[in-house]
Amino acid sequence: IEQTAYQNDNLAMLGKLSASIAHEIRNPLTAIRGFIQLLRPHLQGLGKEEYAKIILSEIDRANDIIHEFLSSSKPTPPQVAIIPVSALLKEVVLLTESEALMTGCQINLHAPHADLTVSVDVKQMKQVLLNMIRNAMEAVSDKESHTGGRIELGARRDGTSVRIFVSDNGKGMDSCTMDRLFNPFFTTKDTGTGLGLSVSERIVKNHGGTISVTSQLNEGTSFVISLPLIQ
Ligand code: ADP
Ligand code: MG
Repeated sequence: IEQTAYQNDNLAMLGKLSASIAHEIRNPLTAIRGFIQLLRPHLQGLGKEEYAKIILSEIDRANDIIHEFLSSSKPTPPQVAIIPVSALLKEVVLLTESEALMTGCQINLHAPHADLTVSVDVKQMKQVLLNMIRNAMEAVSDKESHTGGRIELGARRDGTSVRIFVSDNGKGMDSCTMDRLFNPFFTTKDTGTGLGLSVSERIVKNHGGTISVTSQLNEGTSFVISLPLIQ
C-alpha cells in the first residue's frame, strides 16, 4: 500500500511538472508565431510564401497538442447534470460514426431504458467514452486477422450502480499491458499519447465511480464504467 501511495505522489508531481512545462512552451510559440506573421510579406517577396504557411500550421499543431494536454491534465471538478444514459450513449455514437465507417467497424448501441439516468459532467463523460471507443476502433484495426470489427456499447443497472460497457473484438491485451494501461504516458501505439485512459480513470473517480477491464489476447477487450445510481 505504501508503495502505491508513493507512486501516486510521483505521478501527481509528474503531472504538475509536465503541465507547467507545456504551459511555458506556449509563450515562445506565441512569440515565434507573431514574428513569422511579420516576416510573411518579406518571404512572399522572396517567393517563399509557402514556408511561412508551413511554419504557421506546424506552430498551430504544436499549440493544439499542448492545449489538449493541458485541458486533459487539469483536474476540474465535474459540473454535473442528470441525463438519461441512453441520450449520452446516442450522442457518443453519433460523434464516432464517421470514424467507425472509415475504420470499417460497426458500433452496436444497446440503449438502456430512457429512465436509467446518471449524474455526470456530460462533457467529461463523453470524453471518457470517446477515448474508449477510439481505443476499441484502434484495437479492431490493429488485429492481425480482422473479420469485421464490432464494438458493443451499452448500459444496465446493477444494484446501486449504473454500468456502462464498451466491448470490442479487437486484438486484446497481454498481462503486461493490462498492468499498465492506466499509467499516464503508457502506450503501445506509435503515435499514441498514453493519456486517454489515465485521464478517463481520473474523471470517473471524480464522479465517485470505477473502471474495470477484462481482456483476452486476440479475442477482445471489455471496459466497464460503474457510476453510482441516483436514488
Ligand atoms: P493511447 O490510446 O494513446 O495508447 P490510452 O491511455 O488510451 O493511450 O491506452 C493505453 C494503452 O492501453 C493502449 O496503447 C493499448 O495498448 C491499451 N488499450 C486500451 N484500450 C484497448 C483496447 N480496447 N484493446 C486493446 N488494447 C487497449
Ligand atoms: Mg487512447
